[in-house]
This record gives sequence, C-alpha cells and structure tokens, in this order.
Amino acid sequence: MKPSIVWFRDDLRVADNPALRAAVDDGAAVALYVLDEESAGLRPHGGASRWWLHHSLLALRAELDKLGIPLVLRRGRAFEVVQELTTTPGAGALYWNRRYGAAERTVDAGIKAWAREAGLHVSSFQASLLHEPWNVTTKTGGQYKVFTPFWRTVSAQDFREPLPVPEAGHGYAGAMAESDDLESWSLLPTKPDWAGGLAQAWTPGAAAGHKRLARFVSEGLSNYSEGHNRPDTDGSSGLSPYLRWGELSPYEVWHALGEKRSESSSIFASELGWREFCWHQYFHNPQLATANLRPEFDRFPWAWPGSDGSNGREPGHDGAPREFRAWKKGITGFPLVDAGQRQLWTTGWMHNRVRMVAASFLVKNLGIHWQLGEQWFWDTLVDADPASNPANWQWVAGSGADASPFFRIFNPEGQRTKFDPQGKYIAHWIPEFGTPDYPEGIVDLKTTRAEALEAYKGMREVH
Ligand code: FAD
Repeated sequence: MKPSIVWFRDDLRVADNPALRAAVDDGAAVALYVLDEESAGLRPHGGASRWWLHHSLLALRAELDKLGIPLVLRRGRAFEVVQELTTTPGAGALYWNRRYGAAERTVDAGIKAWAREAGLHVSSFQASLLHEPWNVTTKTGGQYKVFTPFWRTVSAQDFREPLPVPEAGHGYAGAMAESDDLESWSLLPTKPDWAGGLAQAWTPGAAAGHKRLARFVSEGLSNYSEGHNRPDTDGSSGLSPYLRWGELSPYEVWHALGEKRSESSSIFASELGWREFCWHQYFHNPQLATANLRPEFDRFPWAWPGSDGSNGREPGHDGAPREFRAWKKGITGFPLVDAGQRQLWTTGWMHNRVRMVAASFLVKNLGIHWQLGEQWFWDTLVDADPASNPANWQWVAGSGADASPFFRIFNPEGQRTKFDPQGKYIAHWIPEFGTPDYPEGIVDLKTTRAEALEAYKGMREVH
C-alpha cells in the first residue's frame, strides 16, 4: 500500500487537523515538514520563531510517535522535496491544510498542479482560520476594510466542532524516505544562546497550548474584559504563539469558550476575530509588511529613514539612529515602553497594550518608519505572525485598514499610570527605575507629538 503524505506547515498539531485525518483514513500516513528557505517570496523566520519552531517540531514528533506515524523533516525548496518524496519511495495521496500568504499559495498551487498531473490524489483543507478570505465578501463583493461588519458576518457562521486526535495504528510502516536531523537545521541560537528567557517563559507544543487554554477558560476568561488591558496581571490568555504555529486551532479555542457568551467571552472571541481580520487583510494585500494600505502614507516625512535617503536623526555606529537602538534595548527613559521592550527581548512576547504604546512611541514620537518596528518584532516575537504583525503595525501607524487615526497619539506616561497603577509591571522589568541608573527620556513627548501632528498635516496637504 502506498503511503499518504500529510504535509505539516502552520498547523503543528495532531488534534483538529483535517489533513492528518484524511491521511489516517487512507490507512498509511507519513508526516512531512519542509523548512523552505528557497522558494520565492517566503519570509524567512525571525530568531525567536526559529527557536519556537525547533521545540514545536520535537513536540509534534512525540505526538506523531504515539500514533505510529513517522515524521520526515526536509530542508529545501518545497516543490522539489514533495516531488522527490512522492515519487521515491512513492505516495498515493498528498494532504495539507491551506495557507493564505501569496507566496505560499503560489508554492502550493504549483505542487497541486504537478501532483494531479502525476496521478496523485491531492486535497487541501480549511484549518487555520475560521473564515476563508475569498468566501467572505462585502455586499458589493469586495474585501472588508472595517472590522465590525467583517466580524459580524464571520461570527454569525456556525464553526465546525474540532476533530479529535486520530486513533493510533494508521502510520506507514514501509521503507521511509530519510529525514534530516533537526539539529542540522541550527534553529536554536548558540553563540550567544539568548533563548534562556524564552525557555523559562514558554513550553512550545500542543500539550502546553491545551493546558494554557484550559487554565485560561477556567481561571482567566471571566475577568478578561477587565484584565486583558493590564500588563501587570496575567489578564490575557497568552495563547498567541500556540495559535501562530497552529498548535491550537481557532476552532478549539472558539468552542472552548462555550455556547453562552458573557461580556468577557464576547470580547475575547472578537480578539480571535482580529486575528481573522488581519489574515483577511493579508490575503487581499500580500505586501502588507512592505506597503502602506493607505497610499497617502507613502508621502509621510519620516525622520528615519528620510524619503530622500537623508537621516533626520543622528546615526549611531550601525547607521540607524541612536533612538532606534534605545527603543530596541528598552532604554528610552519611558518606563512603559522600556518595560515592554525588555519583556519582548527576554521572553519573546509583549503584552498587547504595551505593544500598542511601544509601537506608537516609535512611529509617532521618534518618527521612525513602522516597517522598522515591524521587522524588529518579526525577529523577536515567538508569535511573529505574517498577517497580525504588519496589520497591527499599520493599525498603530494609521496607514492600515480600520486603523487608529494618526492623530491619536498614546502618551506612554498616561498609559503607564492607567494600566500599571501600582507600578508592578515596571518594577519587574526595570529594577533600576527610580534610581540614577535609569535614563532621562530621550525625547520630549510634547514637542515630538506636535512634530508628528505637523508631519501628518503636511502629508495630507500635499496633493
Ligand atoms: P489575548 O488578548 O488573550 O487574545 C487572544 C488571541 O486573539 C491572541 O492569542 C491572538 O491570536 C488574537 N489577537 C488578540 N489581539 C489581536 C490583534 N490585535 N490582532 C490580531 N490578533 C489578535 N499578534 C500575533 O499573534 N502576532 C504578532 O506578530 C502580533 N504583532 C503585533 C504587533 C503590534 C504592533 C501590536 C499592537 C499587536 C500585535 N499582535 C500580534 C496582536 C496582539 O498584541 C497579540 O495577539 C496579543 O498580545 C497576544 O497575547 P494573548 O494571546 O494573551 O492575547
């Protein structure tokens, strides 16, 4: 009997996995994961993502072992890897759960066309999103650009129940294609090994994701409407990396909330809605990380990098302005921004409220292009997501869909007293706060705010 290959991508789980289900139903499943750093247009993983991926693949292998399904790891161009594996030793079918980035879809379409031609059975499934971006359209047939009507339409649907873990005993037992040694991919940092804090904060893998989900539903959900804005408490779910890597499916999270919706569970469900909305935008705008959704922002006079190549701020040794370095290291002298940036560097995660404040400070008080912040988050977040990261940066910058208006500029000091009233979050991340070792603010909030508003006005006046 020829094996059926299930190609894992952003769905590193055995529960609620329709592609795996299909391969198991065929009777002889083989799992494949391809580290593709060669196909055109795929965004290379950042450092924190590589760390997460390594551990997530170990966790996936352990789960597949229990089902008796071998996992083949391959590094290379996906088309060539899949072609090789399906011809020698040969496969009868190929299954995957769909991806929604343009480059990924091009790769998948090419493989699908080739495999069908070669006589293989190929099927793909909806698993990573609650909506298919091409199926959900406005009355005029276009993409949604505003969140509320988008989510009203999507959340009115009935979402299928999650699928159970398949029963063991349907793995392929014949001669298998060789697998790469995961260590040979060098996904983990070595010199220096900066991932100690990540390992302390997180356990990648579906088992840990399910545990966190269960704990959140029983202990955190009822207070979410109050708690989720407070970085000084454990008020949000911490599920983002598990959703990013598909260790948890959105169907599992949705159904874990139960049928009856409280205010807290509706707010939480709408956060899942924002995840969907980000992917909706990304599907319709594949250049989300590199192009303003509102083209008038192409004229915005950033202090850095300047549109004429000039640098409105004094450069440090790496050519970037010193302010950018201070932002990345968490030494701007604005405690909420600094605490967030240190949390990010240490744990690979930052609280949502603080992400918004840190991003606003970079874009509006330092005048630095949102794309530079987006790239830093991409490299350092364990939940770095090809849709949610750029969509949220554009939301903060005002250049995105249904974005926060540019003139709404967060005051990091006001936000600190409001959302960390006892200073617990600051004390945790900035032990030297309140001593002479903590720096003065690197900019004047009032002046830079006025400069930002002036720049915005200028952008709108130019036709
Ligand atoms: P909860 O409050 O418990 O929310 C539950 C889930 O809903 C999250 O796990 C996440 O999957 C989703 N979610 C919540 N808020 C958003 C949002 N605004 N946009 C999209 N999905 C959301 N989220 C990422 O998953 N990856 C990113 O790369 C990312 N980059 C961001 C960059 C900036 C500048 C900002 C302001 C936000 C970004 N977010 C990103 C959104 C949000 O900050 C995180 O999803 C959230 O902090 C994760 O914590 P949580 O799981 O405890 O969230």
